[in-house]
Amino acid sequence: MKTIKIKNSNKELEIGKIVCVGKNYAEHALELGSVVPEKPVIFLKPTTAVIYSGDKISYPSFSNELHHEVELVLMIGKKVKDINIEAAETAISAYGVGLDMTLRDIQAKMKKEGHPWTIAKCFDTSAVLSEFVLKEDYNLSLEEEIFLSINDKERQRDKLIKMILKPAEIVQYISSLMTLEKGDLIYTGTPKGVGIVNKGDVINAGIEGIAKLSAKVV
Ligand code: MG
Repeated sequence: MKTIKIKNSNKELEIGKIVCVGKNYAEHALELGSVVPEKPVIFLKPTTAVIYSGDKISYPSFSNELHHEVELVLMIGKKVKDINIEAAETAISAYGVGLDMTLRDIQAKMKKEGHPWTIAKCFDTSAVLSEFVLKEDYNLSLEEEIFLSINDKERQRDKLIKMILKPAEIVQYISSLMTLEKGDLIYTGTPKGVGIVNKGDVINAGIEGIAKLSAKVV
């Protein structure tokens, strides 16, 4: 069982499934040589992929191209299905920061062959999570900046407002595809600036006002 910690409290909440959105920032879709999809790309990560700030990311032996992606992560507070935009907004219970570590070489091969991205996205340590802040304690304006550095060199920095689908729209869309339950997490996509990490690199990332995280690649 995996949990997340709530900032400035003793609360720990159990994590359900992890749903991820791909290509939700136009400039990131372009840097991958893709077009912005008509509907967002949706994929899953298992909870076995989860580690926390301060833990180590294990570079898988079956890849030669590990990439960083920093993302706003939503936590779902109740069971919902096929909801409208207002209900989607109230279904969000907390915000955090996540790394969606990605095997870009494997992903490119899977795309080319028309296969699912699973192997590129689901390896152990591929989902790094910060502490979360409860929605009742934080008013997300989307003017916040999301950022990531490697060995103190900045690689990603953008405003959350650049998301194509905004948090409630993402929750509404996913709820039209599958039931969302209390504790489910949603990775909302990464801004431009993704790139390679190597063994020994230290990643620092965060969203102003929400949380920060740090992880070393080994
Ligand atoms: Mg991602």
